[in-house]
Amino acid sequence: MDSIEQLARLLTESKDTLVLTGAGVSTESGIPDFRSPGTGLWSQMDPMELLSRSALSRNPAEFWRRSEPIFRQMASSQPNKGHYALAQLEKRGLVRGIVTQNIDSLHQRAGSNCVLEVHGHLRTASCPHCGAEREMLPLLDQVASGDNPPRCNCGGIFRPNVVLYGDTLPDAFQRAFQWARVCDLLLVVGSSLEVAPVCWLAPTASRLAIINLGETQCDEIASVLIRGKAGEVLNSLLEFA
Ligand code: NAD
Repeated sequence: MDSIEQLARLLTESKDTLVLTGAGVSTESGIPDFRSPGTGLWSQMDPMELLSRSALSRNPAEFWRRSEPIFRQMASSQPNKGHYALAQLEKRGLVRGIVTQNIDSLHQRAGSNCVLEVHGHLRTASCPHCGAEREMLPLLDQVASGDNPPRCNCGGIFRPNVVLYGDTLPDAFQRAFQWARVCDLLLVVGSSLEVAPVCWLAPTASRLAIINLGETQCDEIASVLIRGKAGEVLNSLLEFA
């Protein structure tokens, strides 16, 4: 197993470090990931079925009823020491930016400035007919009170501003691939690297480091691999970097 000192060395040698985060960076904030055995959302339901474009269009009230508690937890959790450590690394000039698969906005709330959200975010929902936007938490309250599906004044049904299974990919992906191609270190934190096309960012980078509790698809090609909790490892990294 590689050490935090080795990771710190890579980081200080690198002139352009990009971080790719997944659901694992937010489990220490109390938000379940998808794939951790026993605790991941996958052990309770099939996210590919629930969080899909077809589920929303087939039965919008059911989509909102079932996603409301999940979205509420993600939208109201607090950043943890891993998010704060990444924001510190950006301030020290050791990290250029973060590409995140997460939709919980916790990197920005911890103080990171350069964040590319490739799967969207839960801050707002929008009306696909007229483009009106609504803040997410009041919309979730509306759903919980039974005013469901939540409708816009124009009659359209709101959808969350996240990438649902079956959606086309947002432009942010193109930018993420451009960043990954030119960076000289990609640090993956808390992702199984099983979700495409995000997982293809890892082999694109010239050098790869991984902090993750479980195995990932790219462990074999990582220059440094640390199996540990993101919050603890990143916080210790601050002492060396
Ligand atoms: P994933 O569930 O496939 O993988 C998470 C990985 O993180 C696992 O390999 C697990 O071992 C590891 N992990 C869990 N806790 C950890 C910790 N404390 N420290 C270090 N590693 C830890 O998640 P993914 O790769 O991000 O892909 C799932 C998809 O689900 C993404 O598209 C993401 O958008 C979405 N998602 C987002 C959130 C969120 O916004 N917080 C939560 C759940 C799922």
